[in-house]
Amino acid sequence: MTAQIMDGKAVGAAIRREVAEGTAELRARGFRAPGLAAVLIGENPASKVYVSSKVKACAEAGIFSDKIERPATVTTEDVLQIVRDLNTREDIDGILVQLPIPKQVDEGAVLRAIDPTKDVDGFHPVNMGNLVLDQRGFEPCTPAGIMELLKRSGVDLKGKNAVVVGRSHIVGKPMALMLLREHATVTICHSRTQDLPGVCRQADVLVAAIGKPALITHDFIKPGAVVVDVGINRVTDPAEAERYFGGDPDRMKQVREKGSTLVGDVLPTAMWEKASLYTPVPGGVGPLTIAMLLSNTLKSAQMRLRA
Ligand code: NAD
Repeated sequence: MTAQIMDGKAVGAAIRREVAEGTAELRARGFRAPGLAAVLIGENPASKVYVSSKVKACAEAGIFSDKIERPATVTTEDVLQIVRDLNTREDIDGILVQLPIPKQVDEGAVLRAIDPTKDVDGFHPVNMGNLVLDQRGFEPCTPAGIMELLKRSGVDLKGKNAVVVGRSHIVGKPMALMLLREHATVTICHSRTQDLPGVCRQADVLVAAIGKPALITHDFIKPGAVVVDVGINRVTDPAEAERYFGGDPDRMKQVREKGSTLVGDVLPTAMWEKASLYTPVPGGVGPLTIAMLLSNTLKSAQMRLRA
């Protein structure tokens, strides 16, 4: 069987274009630009990269952005004050607090302080509740992006067995709820699941959001399954890369020349050989997360401006 890729890069770019058209239309009708505030605390290099990509993507989509940076020594009260200010700002439609935040800051209190109508990451309990109850609200960007990718790739979920591996609040759990809403029969697996390969083999649609390189191998995948790989793991060891990618010359070159390559939670050779459709890493799920953040910010502005 030759597996086809679900092209997250292309779908992400299409969503970003649609958002840019939406913001241009708002402006043409005399409204202000949508606004996103990104709160970045401390010096986590990955968080810095994520926030810069979000700021850049905003600019390209005609969204105003404000990056608010604080040192790692901030208190919960400092962050709550930033959030309260952003809640009242007329020019801000979306607030994101880049996670993880330093341990001394109460993450739950910070997320709860965000005005749910500006919670474009969809992590506020009100928005999580809306998702559970199938009501309108903001939805976490990564699983929302995956739903968009499945839809635009023509995957019919009705009555299908969907297995989600991972139960995090930002990916696994909301993913399962969204698949359920589309009438899939959903199973959620996690680190204590017994016979993980056996459960995964039942899946017509398998979503891996674990954070363990190539944990899902050939014997987890039903022939012809649709496989979505959310994991992002860096591989530096050439022998490991050789094993994951079956000696794929491009990947081996990357490890040799750049010192690393990325692998998901699914063994690439297993997806290539057993899936009907799959998301590559990189270029699968990754590009959708930011696209959905922009889309949520536009939606928030349209609601706030009653446009
Ligand atoms: P997390 O660490 O919060 O959750 C991991 C989940 O995997 C847990 O629920 C745990 O029970 C489960 N798990 C761990 N070991 C397991 C095992 N051996 N067998 C079965 N289940 C196991 O992670 P997360 O935030 O959900 O992220 C998961 C992965 O997705 C990470 O690699 C992360 O980098 C990536 N991610 C990618 C994007 C993107 O935009 N592409 C967005 C978010 C997360």
